[in-house]
Amino acid sequence: MKCMNCGSTNDVIDFVARKEKLFLCVNCRGKLANGQLGKIGRPSLGVTKKVSLTLSEEGWKRLDELAKGNRSQYLRHLVLEAQSEDWSNDACLGYAMLGMENMGYSERQIQELLRAIKSEFDWKSVEEAKCAYKDSSY
Ligand SMILES: [Zn+2]
Repeated sequence: MKCMNCGSTNDVIDFVARKEKLFLCVNCRGKLANGQLGKIGRPSLGVTKKVSLTLSEEGWKRLDELAKGNRSQYLRHLVLEAQSEDWSNDACLGYAMLGMENMGYSERQIQELLRAIKSEFDWKSVEEAKCAYKDSSY
């Protein structure tokens, strides 16, 4: 077993501190006890801010089913997914446009392709599009 802080194998034990499971060597346990060890273990997810959310009884029931006991984790996942999907859509259009410009396609052809890609955004998830490309012969 390796120390999660320094990688040493000198007398490493695992224990729980501040709700985190830690694997530390004898030196790092000494540092931890003296408050000389900085942040260890799972990195912080970010800044916590409070929000209020209003949903119908049915909406909350559905959310709790999907969240499987961890609302904030589930909502964080949805927010990150929504944000990355926006980025992916614009980036995808940009890549397609640049590639077509490099190949010498006309403005009209580029417009048509971008329109076709945009309409796929409404029908296919990022994951489905990824799979469609991977499973294709391109
Ligand atoms: Zn150590």
